[in-house]
Amino acid sequence: MKGCSKHIQQIAEYIDGELDEALCTRLEEHLKECNNCRIMVDTLKQTVVLCREGKRERLPEDIESRLNDALKNKWEKKFGKKS
Ligand SMILES: [Zn+2]
Repeated sequence: MKGCSKHIQQIAEYIDGELDEALCTRLEEHLKECNNCRIMVDTLKQTVVLCREGKRERLPEDIESRLNDALKNKWEKKFGKKS
């Protein structure tokens, strides 16, 4: 599955509900086939929900960025760096 790295931004917008409808549909198609991106969505959703519920006192930013780094590294190893 190629092109995951370019979905990172879309996934963030998707979770925020800001993603264009056409892109949203395309992303959902990709999510059906791509376990990595599904994990990303699930992880981000949980983070967002926690934030929105105001329970973020124990969800420091460094965890979020460490998580992002870990996922990015994983992707870059698997699919090659694309930017
Ligand atoms: Zn993907």
